[in-house]
Amino acid sequence: MRICQQEIIDFHSLPQIGITDTAKAFIGNELRGSQVVILANQCWTYCGFEISLASFAELKKEIGVRREFVVWRLWGLESIQRNCKSALAGVPVLLGKNTGQMMTMKKMMICAGMILCAAAITSAPVVRAQSANSAEQSGPYPSLEIREVTVIDGSGAPAFGPVNIFIKGNRIERVVPSDSISRKEKDEESAAKKEQKAPDRVIEGKGMYVMPGLIDVHIHINSSKDVPAEYIYKLLLGHGVTTVRTFNVGNDDPAEMVAEKKKIAANQIIAPRMYVYPFWGRGDDPRYSNPEGARQIVDEWHALGVDGVKIIGKPGLWPDVFRAIADQARKDGMGVAVHIGQDGVYPMNAVQVASEGASTIEHHYGYPESSYTNQTIQNLPPGYNYSSEPDRFLETGRSWLQADVGKLHGEVIQSLLETMHRTGFIMVPTFSIYEANRDVTRAANLPWHSTYTLPVVMDSFLPNPAHHASYFYEWTSNKEADWARAYRRWLDFVNDYKNQGGVVAVGSDTGFLFELWGFGTIRELEMLEEAGFSPLEALHAATENGAKVVKNPELGLVRQGYLADLVVLSENPLADVKVFYGNGVTRVGTDRKEVHEQCVKYTIRDGVIFDSQALLTDVREMVAKAKQTRPAQAKP
Ligand SMILES: [Zn+2]
Repeated sequence: MRICQQEIIDFHSLPQIGITDTAKAFIGNELRGSQVVILANQCWTYCGFEISLASFAELKKEIGVRREFVVWRLWGLESIQRNCKSALAGVPVLLGKNTGQMMTMKKMMICAGMILCAAAITSAPVVRAQSANSAEQSGPYPSLEIREVTVIDGSGAPAFGPVNIFIKGNRIERVVPSDSISRKEKDEESAAKKEQKAPDRVIEGKGMYVMPGLIDVHIHINSSKDVPAEYIYKLLLGHGVTTVRTFNVGNDDPAEMVAEKKKIAANQIIAPRMYVYPFWGRGDDPRYSNPEGARQIVDEWHALGVDGVKIIGKPGLWPDVFRAIADQARKDGMGVAVHIGQDGVYPMNAVQVASEGASTIEHHYGYPESSYTNQTIQNLPPGYNYSSEPDRFLETGRSWLQADVGKLHGEVIQSLLETMHRTGFIMVPTFSIYEANRDVTRAANLPWHSTYTLPVVMDSFLPNPAHHASYFYEWTSNKEADWARAYRRWLDFVNDYKNQGGVVAVGSDTGFLFELWGFGTIRELEMLEEAGFSPLEALHAATENGAKVVKNPELGLVRQGYLADLVVLSENPLADVKVFYGNGVTRVGTDRKEVHEQCVKYTIRDGVIFDSQALLTDVREMVAKAKQTRPAQAKP
């Protein structure tokens, strides 16, 4: 260990400006001839590409480095020390810091007895991102290699590795065990081998985990003047969500939703892959309420490029209208997602809705009603009014307490399974969104609200008859207990359905009830575990099963030929799914020392690499800025 002189430089935007400009900036700051390496997210970066330490040393030799630096962008000095101690012995370090001004150089004296690193500025090509902010986004690359990672392939298979994943453009070209490569390389140390072209980008992933990007099939992009869609998209990508099925983007206009989906597919905006299922019955078109009109609308939506229909209660649940929608959607290859509102649950309970052609049933509605043996319709208090949300959200929970549990686990599951085998029906429970009903204090005080929840979003959760699902006026222990009892039945039912062969997918319904985008998706995985899903089963629900919901046979698996939608994590999500959370995980040892880590490193969608932590940094900055002008109100 030795004390060394170090400097701070702002290289936050370095990949964006290219190598030549970088060199100029160095020269301008009297660092002529200096060589640069960027250390970000545990990877060595050479001219914007992550490379192995060995290749890095090779480059250094070739170019003849005169001075050595490490430029650090995202991590603190302690993280560098922790992760690179052995590699970085005794060389001066140049720390990069986001000061908000590109290339502002601040010389500072920092004492830190370590850190080395060498590197190089050369004329190697810099891949420019499609968006303005390429610190967050780069690619797709003609060739991308992710090296020495452990893979959880999304099929339910156990983890395996180390492997190298080769990606061409937006597709997985092959997945090869790393040790077989090194063996082969030793065997073939020939001139021909040396001439082989290096990949355009390498992610050095030793010790990391790669799995398919998460697919959240129940999303509302509740963007508005005060809630930019960018905020929602970055939260989702920052949590490893690469695909969403959404029921609205801002307003409910199907054409605008399709336009947004196309922009994402063309990499014009930073967002997850999108499937759009507009709400049925919004607006005053009378055709929504009759079978012939319904068929016309489904065809019109199909022509627009809409992927499916989202039904919530009537008019889509009038039995004749429902049959027309489901039949026409099937002919057009579209999906039908159904929220069985209590206004339509008799006679269209879950067994009925599934068998008549729903591709998914959202939430928990309609299952207990399918099991009734001493009644046909839920017993409701005489003063119940469906239009009153406090009534509605309380009594839907209580429907479980009137269920015939034996029939629920027998006939009801059997019928749903028969339908599944016939039609491909999938269950989307959305456990996490109702959690406030069983413990509103928990939901309102989640630790990430202070840094990740926009004040205007928090306001929308607080009791207000003008907002949807903001009904916690007098939410008492009695009501929470009823909901907790309902949860026990519901969790058991879904777990049993899965155990008997039923397909269950992950949907979060975030943006309501104190549930935040991204965080809610991860909470859903935790709640599947609570229900009885093993970690592999929970991740399978969010990967291959999600791909079935959006009817994309090239999605949801780490498999040759599949789309390159991946998430790269520094920790094993099978050991703890909380490693996905944007606020990171903190482990406390018996010595009471805390180690904090944010584990989602890269989210890759269609071969485009997103720096997950940079996206989340943006979100925190948006929230901090909004709070300066408008502090959040008190919580219940
Ligand atoms: Zn919803």
